[in-house]
Amino acid sequence: MKVMPNRMDRGFFMYQKEFEQKALEVLRSGWYVLGREVEAFEQEFAFYTGARYCVGLASGLDALWMAFRILGIGSGDEVIVQANTYIASVMGITINGATPVFVEPDEYFNIDADKIEEKITDRTKAVLVVHLYGQASNMQKIVQLCKKYDLRLVEDCAQSHGACFQGKMTGTFGDIGCFSFYPSKNLGGFGDGGAIVTADAQIAADMKVYRNYGSEKRYYNKVVGANSRLDELQAGLLRVRLAHMQELTKERRELAERYHERLCNSRIQLPGVRKQADSVWHQYVVRCEERQELIDYLNVHEIGTIIHYPIPPHLSEAYNYLGYQKGSFPVTEHLADTVLSIPMYNGMTKEEQDYVIEVINRF
Ligand SMILES: *Cc1c(COP(=O)(O)O)cnc(C)c1O
Repeated sequence: MKVMPNRMDRGFFMYQKEFEQKALEVLRSGWYVLGREVEAFEQEFAFYTGARYCVGLASGLDALWMAFRILGIGSGDEVIVQANTYIASVMGITINGATPVFVEPDEYFNIDADKIEEKITDRTKAVLVVHLYGQASNMQKIVQLCKKYDLRLVEDCAQSHGACFQGKMTGTFGDIGCFSFYPSKNLGGFGDGGAIVTADAQIAADMKVYRNYGSEKRYYNKVVGANSRLDELQAGLLRVRLAHMQELTKERRELAERYHERLCNSRIQLPGVRKQADSVWHQYVVRCEERQELIDYLNVHEIGTIIHYPIPPHLSEAYNYLGYQKGSFPVTEHLADTVLSIPMYNGMTKEEQDYVIEVINRF
């Protein structure tokens, strides 16, 4: 049996009729950018997360860099972020000219809240929390720290749609929650898309102006903004998927639970879940000291895997200029050398999962 790391087609065929109907409806409407579908999606997604406002954007990266732009964080400012993240989190900071200050992760792959305080300087303006792999971070401690030092709090929720800490949804703890709807995300569209959520009416209003060339009224431009609009087709299709998010998340949790119960191999370490937090299992990430051997072995058995991520941002060529070397963040670097995401997707069959489990247990 062949099992791929992800199957986005499955997520489409689950609700094929609804998606196709919505696509035709939008195509026939004659209105394609910033319209009824976007407005409806913004309301529904705000309601889903428990935030007051949502603003649809063109991508998750746009959500991040525009968040820092609107908060006025740029050149000369420092933003604290975990070292083990997707590089987009860091680009959201550096596009504005601000400097990322990296912190090592805890045992749940999230920022180690106990190591934040030592990194705060008088240039620190914000903390960017990444709920990596769908696992909510230790928000209690982080919110306290941000209050104590008067720091802005931005959340990168590109992998955590629906994940909660103490029953509150990720994205609603700080000033701005940033989401991506890239097709492979838990709430994925059929192209690029993103959004911010916020409780602050001014931030929401500023973001709406900013995403549309800085204009509120057509051809009257208040600021030098961007073109970062969620289109009607994506918004309509995202509404279809959003209506099923509860069952989609439940399915991922059941898959993760089965992996947890049945995977058993002393060479492989399974992911843990923080108390009072939960995971929506964007990825199911195991650790293995002999990772290359495991990858090759799984390949022979036609099981695909992905490394999220093989090169931490501080060692990537793009960030040479920050001046870090190998050894700068040993915990992060060790994770980069040992993590492996095994197949996890909506629509995964019991047969596929049983096969993955059986093969991994024989490694
Ligand atoms: C996907 C992702 C992003 C970027 O989202 P795009 O929509 O691809 O721009 C940012 N941060 C994290 C953690 C992501 O996984």
